[in-house]
Amino acid sequence: ATPTAVMVGTGVGASQGVLIKGGQALESAHKVNCIVFDKTGTLTIGKPVVVNTKFLKRVPDFLELVAATEVNSEHPLAKAIVDYAKKCRGDDENQVWPEAHEFESITGHGVKAIVKGKQILVGNKSFLQNSSISVPADAEEFLAETEELAQTGILVSINEQVVGVLAISDPLKPGAREAISILKSMNIESIMVTGDNWGTAKSIAKEVGIEKVYAEAKPDQKAGKIKELQNSGFIVAMVGDGINDSPALVAADVGMAIGAGTDIAIEAADIVLMKSNLEDVITAIDLSKKTFSRIR
Ligand code: ADP
Ligand code: MG
Repeated sequence: ATPTAVMVGTGVGASQGVLIKGGQALESAHKVNCIVFDKTGTLTIGKPVVVNTKFLKRVPDFLELVAATEVNSEHPLAKAIVDYAKKCRGDDENQVWPEAHEFESITGHGVKAIVKGKQILVGNKSFLQNSSISVPADAEEFLAETEELAQTGILVSINEQVVGVLAISDPLKPGAREAISILKSMNIESIMVTGDNWGTAKSIAKEVGIEKVYAEAKPDQKAGKIKELQNSGFIVAMVGDGINDSPALVAADVGMAIGAGTDIAIEAADIVLMKSNLEDVITAIDLSKKTFSRIR
């Protein structure tokens, strides 16, 4: 393609909300034969909501203790939990929570703090197990139910005892299923990677029509997956929105960031999907094809 054609291609992209950072990205996009999608905020809307709770023990200030811990986290699940606690209390925007001490956030696991003299842990099963807190059978059962429903189950422990589970739902983006189906018809393989648990990941993958899933992946493992696919001969695109996707966005032949995602992901990507929809993955590929293939 001539420099003019590349300029036209990037210009058309920009006018459609597909920002292509340079000719190399535009050229690579149509060679892609495998696309790795992050789950939360990429395939899903990314605005999780607490939809169910299971109490294993009556703790009167349960939600207050949980909110006081999670209010210190920037994770979307934390926001869902704090919003839920606010709502249960009567939607007070200026809600003040008890003070949290020794707050810690463990990537891919959860958060912990001391609130009102109690040790609070909020996170997934491996987080609690790594902290030597045993997960009782009824909590396990509820977790399995939430995962079956494509929801994420978050455990709450107070003073080393699991007292409740929150079920959090983050529905698929409209058009996500269609985009995956179109990619399939283009002979492009779709794969999902996520830091979320295997059960929820598999349920979401099934809903969206993706067969290959890698769950409980840390940021470097997401990037590792990209390299593994490249080593087996694939030209790989990565689509993601989070800080935890940025190593994978850099590793991919083409990194595509969701426009509504974090600045760090947008920075790491070669292409930015300003409308945050998945149809624009196809828009980018089509634009690349139009610009670079000889047959028009
Ligand atoms: P994703 O790849 O889906 O963006 P993350 O790696 O950010 O996932 O998180 C993976 C998992 O870690 C979450 O599904 C959740 O179980 C747990 N987790 C992370 N942060 C928190 C938090 N602030 N509160 C509760 N659980 C958390
Ligand atoms: Mg994400």
